[in-house]
Amino acid sequence: MTASAAVSSPPAAPPVIPLLSNGSWIPSSSSRTSDVFNPSTGKVIARVPLCSASEANAIVQAAAAAGPAWAATPVVERARVMFRFRELLLQRFDELARTVTREHGKTLAEAKASVQRGVEVVEFACGIPSLLMGQSLPDVARSVDCETVRHPVGVCVGITPFNFPAMVPMWMFPVAITCGNTFVLKPSEKVPLSANLMGQLLIEAGLPPGVFNIVHGDKEVVDALLTHELVRAVSFVGSTAIARYVYETGTKHGKRVQSAGGAKNHLIIMPDADLEQAVAALQASAFGCAGERCMAGSIAVPVGDVANRLVDRLCDKAGSMTVGPTDDGAEVDMGPLITAAHRDRVAGYLDIAQKEGATVALDGRSNLPVGDGFFVRPTVIDKVEPEMQLARDEIFGPVLSVIRANSLEQALAVGRKCPYGNGASIFTNSGYAARQFKQHFNAGMIGINVGVPAPMAWFPFTGWNQSFFGDLHVQGQEGIQFYTQQKTITTRWFATAAESTVDPIWRSK
Ligand code: NAD
Repeated sequence: MTASAAVSSPPAAPPVIPLLSNGSWIPSSSSRTSDVFNPSTGKVIARVPLCSASEANAIVQAAAAAGPAWAATPVVERARVMFRFRELLLQRFDELARTVTREHGKTLAEAKASVQRGVEVVEFACGIPSLLMGQSLPDVARSVDCETVRHPVGVCVGITPFNFPAMVPMWMFPVAITCGNTFVLKPSEKVPLSANLMGQLLIEAGLPPGVFNIVHGDKEVVDALLTHELVRAVSFVGSTAIARYVYETGTKHGKRVQSAGGAKNHLIIMPDADLEQAVAALQASAFGCAGERCMAGSIAVPVGDVANRLVDRLCDKAGSMTVGPTDDGAEVDMGPLITAAHRDRVAGYLDIAQKEGATVALDGRSNLPVGDGFFVRPTVIDKVEPEMQLARDEIFGPVLSVIRANSLEQALAVGRKCPYGNGASIFTNSGYAARQFKQHFNAGMIGINVGVPAPMAWFPFTGWNQSFFGDLHVQGQEGIQFYTQQKTITTRWFATAAESTVDPIWRSK
């Protein structure tokens, strides 16, 4: 080795990514940044600026300035921009999915599935001319007609979590924008690259400057957005503590807020269920996306004598899942967790399980892939009790707790002790058990023989309890209602002497 080769310069720091303001990519003036990791390798792949409140303010001003012209753009033209955005999403589908995989760690198949769910919201939004139609009723009184019309609300903000870098933002902005609003996206600082790629596609789709904007950052930016007088509506998805904070702060400052929080989803397995089908669904639900899903099944509740068979089969199947880097083309069943800190927190629940007296049936801390990625393997913890921390905390990793129940009533009671209320499923061949479950389980999204009962774009994403703060959820007609304000118009015209002689239609032939 030569002397000059030995003193090689340190590798250049990855670039700081830009913001999208008024149709242009601009560098942030903030000196604060945060590293963006590839969780498969543990390497820093980009840096995201943590913008200041004044930068957030400037972006809101840009969104507000673009508002009147966009709201006055005919609804069919707004829809056409969304059709073009959809075409670009399909053309660059692989690139977007690979970006999701690189910055989040989910497998490419999972990333593609998540982008596809986002595309479906875009397809829903393409139907905006029909979706925005109001109601009308003539002759509600003599010569009086009544109609409802929907208006955009103004500047809308979306604050999104790390676990679905493309899909969750697409729950929000396609609907908000086609309704005639302008939008400011504050993506998770852990996964900002997919958001910027979608911003570029919206520019290429011909969206006018200022209609869609991106500000990167953390609490400082979020607080600036929540309290800004020009922001009219806030959509939030993230953990329950922050969801509650966003709801309380936003509503206190006069905004309408829809705020989705964390979850702890129960999967009840009845003795008459098809065991192989149930195990396959549980495995996908608990360990898909490495358990980093608000709809992940995190508590299995086997009823009666199915418990031993279920746990044995599940441990067999989950224990043989391939776990490894997802960004190098290798096909694995499960990827890494988002950060080293989150990996350590998730793995820490195995110690908690042992302290609480539960049984570790499958330990995900061993046989990990080599390298610096943030891995925990699928983990099953048996004989968990509803009062344990394992049953109460959202772990948000590949950890499935098993709470054994003697009857369906007892299984429903386990669910009632949970403060969350996102999703829950039952596996059974009994129509009666399924009916009891769907009527009496205390959660907003219910599955029957379905592992992840996440609704598609045409239906609302109806979390309950500590999983949602607000009234109108994302997706479906509730999304349209959230991003519009309704006006009811009552009209009366006085006939001139000549007009009053016109015959009613039914006598005119
Ligand atoms: P998070 O709450 O840490 O972050 C979400 C957003 O809030 C990010 O943009 C982040 O920058 C911002 N934020 C974080 N701390 C803040 C603070 N103190 N003040 C203001 N803003 C702050 O959530 P996460 O870890 O990115 O995402 C995982 C969580 O999201 C899980 O709890 C999961 O269940 C939840 N989630 C819920 C749904 C749902 O529909 N209910 C969907 C996806 C994810």
